[in-house]
Amino acid sequence: MRIPRQNRDLRHYVLRRDVGKLFLYALWILSWCMGALAYNLNHQTYPPERRLLGWRLALWIVAAVIVGFFLFRIHSFFLDRDFIGTLESVGLSHTYTGSRDPGAFRSAQYDFRLHKVLTVRLENGKKKRVRVEEKQGSYVYYRIGDRLIGLHGLPYPINLDSDEQTGYACAACGRVHKEQLPHCDQCGLSFLDPAQLPRTFKK
Ligand SMILES: [Zn+2]
Repeated sequence: MRIPRQNRDLRHYVLRRDVGKLFLYALWILSWCMGALAYNLNHQTYPPERRLLGWRLALWIVAAVIVGFFLFRIHSFFLDRDFIGTLESVGLSHTYTGSRDPGAFRSAQYDFRLHKVLTVRLENGKKKRVRVEEKQGSYVYYRIGDRLIGLHGLPYPINLDSDEQTGYACAACGRVHKEQLPHCDQCGLSFLDPAQLPRTFKK
């Protein structure tokens, strides 16, 4: 499924993030290879079994591939797929991170983040859980029974039944606006119009 043509900036946003991720991943693997090369060059007098050659080199590169795979969240290319479904339940979870942000509200030592766990019933009957950070307004935006669409690379699913009551969310930053604007007033990216999005994968 493609992001509608009028949201070209959102397409670029997703593409930039995906390409950036793959670029960092490639750079990461390359740096491990360079490390092995530098090690071998610096230890030329060592016998071959003490240098990174043959299966040792292969193991080294496999380790780089695996560690980088999780570090750069490459698995999201396989797991973060488009979906359409009906919101069945909404749960909450939270995280704390230490923060010494001087501008923080109430001089908090900790940064408290609340997340929503959305359980969506897909068309094939399976359940999908999506975790998004709670933003002002998302409490009413994700209304049980409404139809949601999630697009690859955009963290916030769009409520296809959104109206004046729920408000309209930005798919990129999650800010909920009272009305459907051309652009999000927080991140500046364009708004996905629920009327332009499919309600089903089935034709
Ligand atoms: Zn936004």
